[in-house]
Amino acid sequence: MTKILVIEDERSLRDALVYNLRREDFAVAVAEDAPTGVLLARRENPDLILLDLMLPGGNGFDVCRNVRTFSAAPIIMLTARGDDIDRVLGLEMGADDYVTKPFGLRELLARIKANLRRVELDRGEPLDQILEAGPVRVDLSARRVSVEDQTIKLQPREFDLLAYFVRNAGAVLTRPRLLNSVWGHEFVGDRTVDVHVRRLRAKLEHVSSVDFIRTVHGIGYVFEAAPNGGPAGA
Ligand code: CA
Repeated sequence: MTKILVIEDERSLRDALVYNLRREDFAVAVAEDAPTGVLLARRENPDLILLDLMLPGGNGFDVCRNVRTFSAAPIIMLTARGDDIDRVLGLEMGADDYVTKPFGLRELLARIKANLRRVELDRGEPLDQILEAGPVRVDLSARRVSVEDQTIKLQPREFDLLAYFVRNAGAVLTRPRLLNSVWGHEFVGDRTVDVHVRRLRAKLEHVSSVDFIRTVHGIGYVFEAAPNGGPAGA
C-alpha cells in the first residue's frame, strides 16, 4: 500500500486530507508539527509527503531540508497564495512540487499520482544506461551526473529533467512536452518548468562556463552540449 505522510497543523484541512486519501486507498500517517513530521518521515518511510509551509515548531523549509538528508520521497508543498514559490522550490529546499491553497481534491490527487508515477518510472529505467552529450554524462542506474568529470548533485526532478534534455540534445523542447515527459501530466503550470530549469542552470554553472540550456523565446528550451557548432550527441 502506498503511504502518504501529511504534515499540516490546520485541523480541518488535515482531517479532510486524511479522510480523502484513505478513501483513495492510501495508507496515511499524520503529523501536526514540524518535529513530529521529520520523525515520522524517518520512521514511517512514506512514499510521498504533503508538507505545509507554516507549522508549529519549525517551518516547511526546515522540514524539507531535514527530510532530504535521509529520504528521496517526493515532497509536495502546500503553500498559501503569495508564498514565494521560487523559494519553495528553491535550490536549498528540495521540494518536488507545490499546490496553492485553497486547492481542489482532484487537483491534489492528480499531483500525488503524477509524482508517484515519476518515481515508478525512475525505478523502471534499464540498468547501466549511460547518456552523454558533449561533456555532460548522465548515469541512469546510479542517478549520477557529471560535467567535465565533475559530479554534480541534483534533486530527483532536476535529474529527470536533465536526463530528458541530454536524451534529446539539440531538439527544441516545448514547455508542454517537458511537462508531459518529465512531470507526466498537465496540471502543473509552465512556471514549474521554468523554475526547475533555473535550478538546473545554476547547478551546471557551478561546474562549467558553457550555457547548456538555451531559452527559445516563447517556446521552451534546447539543450546544446556543443554550442559552437560541434556534434551535440555522443
Ligand atoms: Ca499551517
